[in-house]
Formats: sequence, structure tokens, C-alpha cells
Amino acid sequence: MVSTSEPSDGLNQVIPRSEHTLSRSILSSAALNVLQRLSKAGYRALLVGGGVRDPLLGITPKDFDVATDATPEQIHNLFRRSRIIGRRFQIVHVRDGRETIEVSTFRAAPQDDPQPTGKNKFELGSTGQIIRDNQFGSIKEDAFRRDFTVNALYYDIKDFSLIDYTGGLQDLQQRTLKMIGDPLQRYREDPVRMIRAIRLASKLAFNLDPATAAPIKQNAKLLQDVSPARLFEEVNKLFLAGYCHETYHMTLQYGLFEALFPEAHSLIQDSESLQLFISQALINSDNRVEQGKPVVPAFLFSVLLWPQAHKRHQQLLEAGEPPVPALQKASIAAISAQQAYVSIPKRFTQNIREMWEMQPRLIQRRKNRIYPLLEHPRFRAAYDFLLLREQSGESLENAGQWWTDFQDANKEQRDAMVDALPGAKKKRSRPRRKKLQNGNPP
Ligand code: ATP
Ligand code: MG
Repeated sequence: MVSTSEPSDGLNQVIPRSEHTLSRSILSSAALNVLQRLSKAGYRALLVGGGVRDPLLGITPKDFDVATDATPEQIHNLFRRSRIIGRRFQIVHVRDGRETIEVSTFRAAPQDDPQPTGKNKFELGSTGQIIRDNQFGSIKEDAFRRDFTVNALYYDIKDFSLIDYTGGLQDLQQRTLKMIGDPLQRYREDPVRMIRAIRLASKLAFNLDPATAAPIKQNAKLLQDVSPARLFEEVNKLFLAGYCHETYHMTLQYGLFEALFPEAHSLIQDSESLQLFISQALINSDNRVEQGKPVVPAFLFSVLLWPQAHKRHQQLLEAGEPPVPALQKASIAAISAQQAYVSIPKRFTQNIREMWEMQPRLIQRRKNRIYPLLEHPRFRAAYDFLLLREQSGESLENAGQWWTDFQDANKEQRDAMVDALPGAKKKRSRPRRKKLQNGNPP
């Protein structure tokens, strides 16, 4: 067990059970299990983060985070279905049923140790970024190394009290998102906190405290020091959570969109139609979340990277390439240009390319390609994408409406629609093409 210190000075606030509105019913059975098991084994265990913050605001939390004085190894030894993850910041994922509870050991804030060295300590990179942060500490120290005051509220199942070392409860009541400590230093330690500031302010409909907001725009470029794989995860959290339209405008306002998607950003500056396209896609995505429909990273990234794919496509068309191969080349180049900033895993890039590469085919509507296109696994997404392009003012031969009508039509009507396509011939005596592979021409 690592050392703990109880609240001892006048700034500490322990709010007893009778004086706050949280009840243990907010806890999922998995969270309760983890807390009780740690507690029975003699460790201190508290709920922290969104699992405390959100119920205080009447919001159902996305997940539960637990803080404890048990070390990662001790936690891992206690739970059979657990995994120690992370290098920069070790936490333990404990699986319980379908839930994953994130359990972290109390950490000390970096400034508490003037000489950061050694295996279990933190390390700072050249720009002040924390490379390793595994210096264990007391619960109070743990509170101060967290990001925002409202994220540093603890719910103690020992006596159901609420513990607030940083003034989080007051900020929560005033609906203010406020960084703990010096905001610029905290952003330097971990630039992802700038993204979290925007995400949480949108999610909670909070005001950003002026001192917390002030350094973001100037320091957005610090995100280039963050691993593109971690940024992929963060961008997904930003844009798939059901409030992405608002978040998107905030990322533009605070220079974060430019830092994450520099090429797309410069292209949308000159194009109202691209601005409309992205806005409309994000509004649709928020609506889908509200209706309980899935939203997927591939669609999100196909939208965010479309400006750079489209530009390259246009350039290749102007150079005389036929539309389909031009779009194939443009897609590969657009995705690879993005990987240095936000890297998109291969399992998604394939889908993104298919969605884009179906665009000219959906517009051309060749008679013998209609049914294979309709059956393609990416048809629905590619069709939605086409509609978005039309909605944002692109003129695409009215193909969106045609495909809408085609899907609504019965077999007879469909055949008639195919026959009526310009240039469509009745039946060829001998097929000119080889077999289709995945609906794509060879
Ligand atoms: P949500 O789960 O709704 O996204 P959350 O605040 O719970 O919000 P998590 O990513 O689950 O976010 O993190 C849990 C807690 O860990 C946070 O509330 C905060 O106390 C702490 N935390 C997370 N990321 C950071 C960070 N980059 N710097 C400092 N503390 C962090
Ligand atoms: Mg959480």
C-alpha cells in the first residue's frame, strides 16, 4: 500500500453524507464491487471523475473511475479479470460483466518532486510534457494532479462522504470548468488537457474559466508532441459523443481543429460548401446519437478528411485522370497526409476509402453496377455521404434523389429506373466485364 494522508488543513472539505445529494444508487454494480473488494482487502478506494461529477449534475455517467492507495500490481492481483495498461500513466482496467472500471493509484502532482527521476516517478519531455507519471502519492496529492476541479471530487464509500480538495463543488454549482493549478503549465505537461477542456465544457454545458481558456489558442500547437494514436482516441471522444457540432465550433475557435487537421482546416477556410458539409455531417451525427443509432469513426473521419481527398481528386481530374482511379489515388494520399497528426488505424482507413471511392460510381450510375453497389457493405454510408455533399451545395447530377427513390421502389420500378438511365442498353449478348470484386471493378 502507498502512503495516504487524510484531510488535515482548513482548505480540505469533507462533506458528510447528510449534506450532499449523492447516493450509492448512482454506482453501477461493477463499480460497487470494485470499491468494496478493494476496501475489504484493506485499501482506500473512492469513486472519482465523471462518475461523481455527472450524477451531481443529473447526468448518467459514461463510465466509473476508481482511485485507490493500492498499487497497480496490488489491484491486478486482487481482480482476476484485470489488466495493467499504459506506460506514461499506468492504470488497471477491471472487467466486471460488460463494464470496465478504470482503477488508478493515487498519484502525486509533478511539482511535488523537484528532481524527477527513477522508475516509478514522472519524467518531463523537452516541452514540459509528462512522459511518465507513476509517482504514487496521497489522496490529496492525487486530487491536485487531476485536470479540472470538478473532476477531482471523490465519493468515499467508507462513509458516503464527498471529498473536495480543490473547490470543485463550488465550480460545479457555478457551472465552470476550471483547471487545477497553473493552466499553461498543466497544458504543457499534457496537451490533451486542451482537448478535454473543450470536450467537457461542451458536454456539461459549462463555461470555461477565463484563465483556463486563455492559453489554449496560443498553445494548440503543443498537440504535435502528442502521439497521433492517442489523438485518434481523443478525436473520437470529441466527435462521437453526441454534442460534436458544438465541440467542432469550439475546436475551430480555440485553434485545436487547425492543430489536429491542418490541411482540412486551411481548405475549409476558402469554401463555404465544405464548411456546410462538415457542419451538416456533425449535426446529423448528433441527431443519430440522440436517436440511439450508432456513429462510427470511419464515417466521422471520412467527413473530416474529405476536404483534402476532394482537393486531390480535383487536381487529378484536371490532369486528365479518369474519375475512379483519380479518387483511389486521392484517397490514399489524403489519408497518409493525416497520419502524422491523428493516426487512423488501418481497420478504419479501408472503410473510409471504400466510402469515398463509391462516390463517382454512385454518381455515374452505370446500368450493370446498380445492384452490386446497392449490396455493397459500405452502400449505406456512401449514400449518406453523397446526400451530405448535395445538401452542402455540390451539384452531383441529382444522384442522391435517384438513389433515395431507387431504395424506396419495388422490383419492377427499380428495373424501370435502371432501364431509363442514360446510355443504358437492354441486355448485352456477352458481358464485357470480368466478375466484380466486392462491387468494385477490376
Ligand atoms: P468522461 O468519462 O465523461 O469522458 P471523465 O472526467 O470521467 O469524463 P476520464 O477520461 O474517464 O474522464 O478520466 C477520469 C478522470 O481522470 C478525470 O475525471 C480526471 O480526474 C482524470 N484525468 C483524465 N485525464 C486526465 C489528464 N489528461 N490529466 C489529468 N487528469 C486526468
Ligand atoms: Mg470517466
